Amino acid sequence: MATADEITQFCPHCGLCCDSTLFADVELRAGDDAQKLRKAGLKLYPKTKTRLAFDQPCRCFAGRLCQIYPDRPKRCRAFDCGLLQRVADAELTPAAALKKITAAKQLADRVRELLRSLGQREEQMALTHRYAEAMAAPVDLADEAGAERHGKLMLAVNDLMTRLQRDFLR
Ligand code: SF4
Ligand code: SF4
Repeated sequence: MATADEITQFCPHCGLCCDSTLFADVELRAGDDAQKLRKAGLKLYPKTKTRLAFDQPCRCFAGRLCQIYPDRPKRCRAFDCGLLQRVADAELTPAAALKKITAAKQLADRVRELLRSLGQREEQMALTHRYAEAMAAPVDLADEAGAERHGKLMLAVNDLMTRLQRDFLR
């Protein structure tokens, strides 16, 4: 498990687990105070018959920091990304970890830029849903530049997913 020092050192540079790059939503767990979380600004909805959830990008994520950190839901507390785990296990140096964060964020920015260029500008929608919408839109084959952007988007998403899987999830 990552220490508080490691979280303080890396997470403010990252935010990938709060801004929808890694997850499209977060489910509440038994013991989470839904009323308090709603008051804090989270828009909860029933995801299943028994589970409430909120969508990402998280409304409580601002300035690269969680605005409700002491009261964050249990799922958020329990998440320990692969990158922090490897730093904690001394498999990765802090400098290498920061480089990996920067590289992943650049890839995520590239995906967002391509989505915008294809007309998908709903920044409050999770990245994976934005991608699905952009890919579901009909492609005008007479529009060579548009078709090329679709191809670039597919490649950029593949690069991002590969990196997230390798460096942040395990
Ligand atoms: S993905 Fe890892 S390093 Fe990034 S904010 Fe989340 S816990 Fe911190
Ligand atoms: S509640 Fe805090 S830790 Fe959880 S997703 Fe939102 S910003 Fe991130």
